Amino acid sequence: MDMPISLSLNTEALSGCLTIDLTALAENYRTLCRLAEPAETSAVVKADAYGLSATKVAPVLYAAGCRKFFVAHLKEAAALKPALPDDAQIFILNGLMPGGETYASAQGFIPVLNSLEQVANWQRTATMLGKRLPALLQFDTGMSRLGLSPDEAARLAAHPELMQDIDCLYIMSHLASADERESVQNADQLADMQKYRQLFPGIPLCFANSGGIFMGQSFTGDLVRPGIALYGGVPSDLAEGAIRPVVRLAVRVIQTRTVPAGTKVGYGATHVTTRETRLATLAAGYADGLPRALSDRGAAWFNGVRLPIVGRVSMDSMTVDISALPEGALPLGTLVDIIGPQQSLEEVAAQAGTISYEILTSLGQRYHRIYL
Ligand SMILES: *Cc1c(COP(=O)(O)O)cnc(C)c1O
Repeated sequence: MDMPISLSLNTEALSGCLTIDLTALAENYRTLCRLAEPAETSAVVKADAYGLSATKVAPVLYAAGCRKFFVAHLKEAAALKPALPDDAQIFILNGLMPGGETYASAQGFIPVLNSLEQVANWQRTATMLGKRLPALLQFDTGMSRLGLSPDEAARLAAHPELMQDIDCLYIMSHLASADERESVQNADQLADMQKYRQLFPGIPLCFANSGGIFMGQSFTGDLVRPGIALYGGVPSDLAEGAIRPVVRLAVRVIQTRTVPAGTKVGYGATHVTTRETRLATLAAGYADGLPRALSDRGAAWFNGVRLPIVGRVSMDSMTVDISALPEGALPLGTLVDIIGPQQSLEEVAAQAGTISYEILTSLGQRYHRIYL
């Protein structure tokens, strides 16, 4: 007799569970709106909304009132557009590569122009199409990353014909040290932007990221561009308590064992037990966005009990010391928290020696995702 076989792949097939609280996300958006008022609040949804899915996140933000969305690349803009109603505007932070202009203008995307070359390319496209095209104009005020230099800005101001068919919706720049309110660089960059406002009078200002919003009204300009704070990151100590967590990450126990003192754990045997120890192997590793830097440093949590990571984090797994739990507390498949009520996203990032941005954007596709 053949046994009936039913195959299905669902939560049991995956390494853990990534819960994304879209209600908290919308609330964070509204919090940022209140703080930034009377400036308008856009949303930065680059890198697939910091790894949380731009096509899931953006409609929720639209419903909360957001009409302006920033991505980094043209390809991201193209992927986002079908998820949003027609009155949403999509801005491209990195600007356009030569050859992308016609497609971008046909789709109604709005590039950030970061160099005189990008200005010239967009102007040429406008001439070719016989119509005016919108753009943002970025100035470099201290990151040496993107934007016009002071000389280039002066040249453009002296030759308005270089952008005669471009509607400049905003002038913008990006804060390099918004996570450190004490940094004098913040005030320096603000002063530079005041100069650019005089050079290009009457054009609204787009300046603050998440951290900048919490530095107060002088930084908010006319349009703010938060990313990380939407997703539950706390951009600086000024934001402590104001932002709701959005992400919870729990991973599965795939094996437990009890080992005697003197037992080596993991690659390179960086951990050797000093007493009889109960260990659990968890089904997520650095390929799931839990950095190798968490080796012998980070922890998982179960029922309020801290379970330290012992040995090196592997690609697909890591080992934690579960001696603090009663025997049998973690049967095969049990979920233990990595990011959750006892351990915030920011804490995990700090343990890994990195920032919440890098943790979020690395979480990857191997978790079962639940959008609340
Ligand atoms: C990523 C990015 C933002 C968003 O920054 P957060 O710190 O995540 O709020 C804003 N502006 C620019 C230019 C960016 O690259």
